[in-house]
Amino acid sequence: MPRDYYDELGVAREATPAQIKKAYRKLARQYHPDVNRDDPQAAERFKAVQHAYDILSDKETREAYDRYGHAAEQMGEGGPPPGWPPPGGGGGWEFRGGPGGFGGGGQEFRFTSGGADGADMQDILSQLFGGAAGAGRAQAPSQRGTDYEAELHLSLEEVLAGTTRDLSLTVEDTCTSCRGRGIVPPGQPCAVCGGRGQVRRQQTVRGVKIPAGADNGSTVRLRGKGGAGHGGPPGDINLRIVWREHPFFRPSGDDLECEVPVSLAEASLGGEIPVPTLRGMRTLRIPAGTSSGTRFRIREGGLPSRRAKTTGNLVVRVKVVVPAAEGEAETKAVTEMSARAGDPRAGLWRPQEQ
Ligand SMILES: [Zn+2]
Repeated sequence: MPRDYYDELGVAREATPAQIKKAYRKLARQYHPDVNRDDPQAAERFKAVQHAYDILSDKETREAYDRYGHAAEQMGEGGPPPGWPPPGGGGGWEFRGGPGGFGGGGQEFRFTSGGADGADMQDILSQLFGGAAGAGRAQAPSQRGTDYEAELHLSLEEVLAGTTRDLSLTVEDTCTSCRGRGIVPPGQPCAVCGGRGQVRRQQTVRGVKIPAGADNGSTVRLRGKGGAGHGGPPGDINLRIVWREHPFFRPSGDDLECEVPVSLAEASLGGEIPVPTLRGMRTLRIPAGTSSGTRFRIREGGLPSRRAKTTGNLVVRVKVVVPAAEGEAETKAVTEMSARAGDPRAGLWRPQEQ
């Protein structure tokens, strides 16, 4: 059995309509789901206050309640009182099915003004949202859709050439059935979101174009691809670009770095060695007597820069692969070559004098 409606609103039985309205507005503000998120008790109380006001604010239903008590609401066809239940079902809520109908796309939920109650609700909502609802039809103030954040991992090949991707995101959206309130009129927990006010769903965005040279850590904004707006524009998807690690190239700004092994003969005699780049093989000329660790630059072998409209370089660090000398001839040749070159550590350091 519900509480006495006068007790619910905290007013005397002989309260004037103005007193009832005042009490209702105070309580509705206090227990409104928008200011008591995740509080099921407040939601219940809000529902009860709403219902009590629905009954007591209407002259006919109030009279019926005064006479029959809660039994008035159980009376079926043929029974008193006329005008019961109150027009609009209470609360000034209305469901409007879009072209797809319920469960389909395009459904729309809005507050409508169901007489005096609706106007009151409109005032309360405008205060809660800080917005100004239009006159007559008391639609909730428009809200822009949610922005979604996601990471997009790109290979360096994709950074170089740009890419087109289909994205699949798991997103949290405000439940459209209850507009995020978790309850639906006349105060039932929302079946669509289970009372959470949020629904999780899979969103696919096809054909997302990522331009060449998308910087690591930069953001690509897909305007209007985020959460649906509630009377406002849809949100965006903000894609944070993350470069994947490459097995061979290491990015350094717009430059790429890599290490290329060279043979003793190539290092000693000099020559042309093939070097891989993201754009295919290139030829690197190294001089005679190239030591391990020497760096060479292949112009424009790096990544394109969107800002500077230039292309970085590929920095090749050579690593000389030295085999052990075998046999008399090799030993003699290497020894002679080394002796001729002299001590590689000559002049490297001197003991500090006291
Ligand atoms: Zn819901």
